[in-house]
This record gives sequence, C-alpha cells and structure tokens, in this order.
Amino acid sequence: MSIQPDLSAAIGHTPLLRLRHASALTGCEILGKAEFLNPGGSIKDRTALGLLLDAERRGRIRPGGSIVEGTAGNTGIGLALLGASRGYRTVIFMPETQSREKIDALRIAGAEVRLVPAVPYKDPNHYAHQARAHAEAANAADPGSAWFANQFDNTANRDWHEATTGVEIWQGAGGRVDGFVCAAGTGGTLAGVGRALKARNPRVRIALADPAGSALASYVNTGELIASGNSISEGIGSSRVTANFDSAPIDLAWSIPDDESVPLLHRLLAEEGWCTGGSSGVNLAGAIRLARELGPGHTIVTVLADAGTRYQAKLFNPAFLRGKGIPVPDWLARAFPAP
Ligand code: PMP
Repeated sequence: MSIQPDLSAAIGHTPLLRLRHASALTGCEILGKAEFLNPGGSIKDRTALGLLLDAERRGRIRPGGSIVEGTAGNTGIGLALLGASRGYRTVIFMPETQSREKIDALRIAGAEVRLVPAVPYKDPNHYAHQARAHAEAANAADPGSAWFANQFDNTANRDWHEATTGVEIWQGAGGRVDGFVCAAGTGGTLAGVGRALKARNPRVRIALADPAGSALASYVNTGELIASGNSISEGIGSSRVTANFDSAPIDLAWSIPDDESVPLLHRLLAEEGWCTGGSSGVNLAGAIRLARELGPGHTIVTVLADAGTRYQAKLFNPAFLRGKGIPVPDWLARAFPAP
C-alpha cells in the first residue's frame, strides 16, 4: 500500500482474478484482469491516460485546453476524470444508443456530452468524424486550443497497453501465459497486450472474441469485413480495421453470440461475485473457447473491462433480456418480478 499522488497514478496495477467456473469447466487456469477496478470504472482509463500523456509529451495539448473525443463512453469517462485532475475541459461525442449510466457518468465527470445518431463510420455524422470536426473548428478559431484524442487510430493507445496492461499480465501470471483473448473496440488492448506477450514468448496464442454484429472475426478468418447478427454488448466490435487493430498479432478469432456470452456474465456474478459488463461476457466466452482449443493444463488470460452496474437497465433487466431472446436466470427474474 502506498500513497498515490493523483488520479493518473491510481490507474492500472489491477489484480488478476482466478475465474472459478470457467477454470473448472475447461481444466485450464482462466484468469481475468480486473479492469473494472480502475478509478473511472473501466480499462479505458488506461487508454485515456496513454493518449493524454503522449499528447502532453508532444505538446499537442496546452494547459487549460480542451480534450475532444468520440467514444462509446468509457474512454470519455477516463478522459473527463483525467481532465478534471489535470486542468483540461473535455468535450465528448457519443452515439445516443449507449447506456444511460455511461452518459450520466460522463456528465458527472464534468464532460460536455454531445449525443449524436448512431450511424456507420462512412457517414460524416459518425461520432468520431464529428469529434474531429469539432476539434478542427476550435483550432481554426483559436489555434492549439483543442486536441482530438483519436483513440481508434492513434497507436499511443496500443503502446500504453503494451507497456502497462501486457507487462502486468505477464508479471502477474509469473510468466506462465499460454493464451490471451479479448474483444476489440479500438483494438488497443488486443494489439498492445498481444505484442507484449508475444515479445516475451512467441508461442503465446492471441485470440479475438468478437461480438455478433461485428465484422472483425470474419476479417481475421477470411480477409473480408462481413458482419452478421447483433449484440447488446457496448464498446466492442467494429465494421472497419482501425490502425490499432491492424497491428494486433491475432492467431484465432470467433464471433460470439449474446446467448453464449450473457449467461456467462450472469453466472460470474451469481456464483463468484464479480459484477461485469457485456464485453467481459464476450471475453469470458472467448477464454473458454481458447481453453478448449489448447486443451487442459494451460493458463489463459482475459480482461474484465468494466462493471455491470454501468448497464444495469439492460444486462440485468429481465424484460429487456427477454426482448432480445436471451435467457433470464431464475435469481434475476425473482429479483425483478414482472409488474
Ligand atoms: N470493453 C469495454 C466495456 C469497452 O468500453 C471497450 C472500449 N470501447 C472495450 C472493451 C474494447 O477495448 P479496446 O478499445 O482496447 O479494443
């Protein structure tokens, strides 16, 4: 236990948790990195810090300037909290389909939130394009006043995961890692951790767990970006290959349906007490698939990226789940009986 001087020092250094059910099911040691314990509640605090430190080092953001970003929410929360800690304003563009809990968390963190329609990346109204255009307009009026963080294509994202998340996983597991698997939003986690682990042991298998509705698994397996289905998970999946994803050393990829991932995250809460969000369910499903691929006796690491409380009205809402055709566990149906 040591005294942390500020918010940035409290980001990362998260524990590796033994995931009991998944381990017993597969005969492997399945470990989850508890990223929901970060101060802003998600792994994206790391991304926010890595991008911001890089911008400060390069002189791309000035004291009192504005951080501008397009985000599904979690990166924005990290940026806004770091902005509060370091004296920057934060302006966040976000699709209006994201959870109410994340939108509220952003506002509480002091961000100016601009909700925009959820449209494909090729549409100029996509949240990432609107964020870039906002920063460009601010800089045209007052040069150097705004910095567009650009988490999808700024590889400082990947580099920070390589230097922190990946190294922590290798050291936390005592160098005994046979496989790593996670979903990709920007691809920063997968690329950074994948590179850190492969540099230490080239035989480590790196796998992508892709939510239904994303085109990345098909891209890895066939070279073509083809999406099918849809998912209630947020912050993961993509219809395009970002610069961060492009540099990920991926050996295997699967598309994971919600009726496989959501029951796993319900069970993780009910039987082991870890309350995690939708991407953690996809990651856990991926870890089980990778364990089956490698066989018993291997150590597989994944990420528990954020907390389930951030999606209470969806992931733990029986009526919502039934509407999506996802099984509702008895304990959840009893906790929230139909009116
Ligand atoms: N899980 C959650 C909950 C997220 O918010 C994100 C990022 N949007 C990810 C996973 C994916 O991480 P990355 O951007 O590093 O691929």
